[in-house]
Amino acid sequence: MRGSIRQLLDLVESGLVPPEGFLVEILSFTDSVDELFQAADRFRDRFVGPEILVRGIVEFSNYCRNSCAYCGIGSRNRRIPRYRLSTQQVICTVERIKDAGIKTVVLQSGEDPGLDPYWLADLIKEIKSLGQMAVTLSVGERSKDEYAIWRKAGADRYLLKVETTDPALYQSLHPGMRLENRIRCLEVLRDLGYETGSGNIIGLPGQGPSQIARDLLFLRSFGLDMLAIGPFVPHPDTPLGGLEPGSMEQTLRAIALARLLCPYCNIPATSAIGTIGGDSARRHALNAGANVVMLNFTPWPYSSLYEIYPGRPGPDLAGKMLEGLMAWADENGREIRFSIGSARHSGCRATEPDLFIRSN
Ligand code: SF4
Repeated sequence: MRGSIRQLLDLVESGLVPPEGFLVEILSFTDSVDELFQAADRFRDRFVGPEILVRGIVEFSNYCRNSCAYCGIGSRNRRIPRYRLSTQQVICTVERIKDAGIKTVVLQSGEDPGLDPYWLADLIKEIKSLGQMAVTLSVGERSKDEYAIWRKAGADRYLLKVETTDPALYQSLHPGMRLENRIRCLEVLRDLGYETGSGNIIGLPGQGPSQIARDLLFLRSFGLDMLAIGPFVPHPDTPLGGLEPGSMEQTLRAIALARLLCPYCNIPATSAIGTIGGDSARRHALNAGANVVMLNFTPWPYSSLYEIYPGRPGPDLAGKMLEGLMAWADENGREIRFSIGSARHSGCRATEPDLFIRSN
């Protein structure tokens, strides 16, 4: 294993893309992977610094036209009451995020067919008028015109996870959806000047290290600014409800590899990591390449209805999580950063040799 990590570092330091087989080996090894995590942590410190960026999420609608096989709010789940927050409810929540000192709001929803693009554009403008705030959208696959309207209204970033780049696996998990369309949406978002984020799920049924390695290589090649990787968390009301959750160890390895492949990316210690492994797993991710934490401010009872998977931390825990994180950061030479926290360099492809030299 030691030799493998050294060889991997030689490759990425030279601006070369590691072959898929190399990544598969690292994802599959059963030895201790401390050396991998330490290398990713050094890269995190070198390229994005000691800061942990904090974002506040508002899940403003749990309507969704899709039925992804792993998701608890897919259209097939008739047991969950549906909601849409009003402008006033969202703005009150954003005020709470702002009062906590957080300067990025993530507006998230299912792929809501009832979403009025002009309502969302007005909401973005109103949030921007509150002061220096970045707005990240995560509302799924939409038309180019809608993406353009929201960008013009002031939206800064867009998160659209690809979840898996394996065509057969994508097809089996996303009835009626097309991988090519998702990738086309990501291209449109990037071309419109959004800071663009994507990511994948670790531990999906039928997924092995080769698929994860290919996901990572795709995400690197795309030129992303944000990269979200989380373990599969089974939801009882979905076709995958009886399966085991994704492996935390493999998720952490994927995060560490993502940091080495995309050194400038903002990489969250995702909520799914916290859901499966608690605070210790979230902190482990922050020590293995991650540099972002997202806190859920969606007001109760709506937070409990945005159940993409069970056990997600709600708004009651946001303050406590932030407090715990600040204490941990203090003890570990990290600092919580309440600034807007834009990506330092646009795109994963910043792994060119000249950039490595300049940043040393
Ligand atoms: S993962 Fe997203 S698009 Fe798929 S069903 Fe859930 S909310 Fe809808």
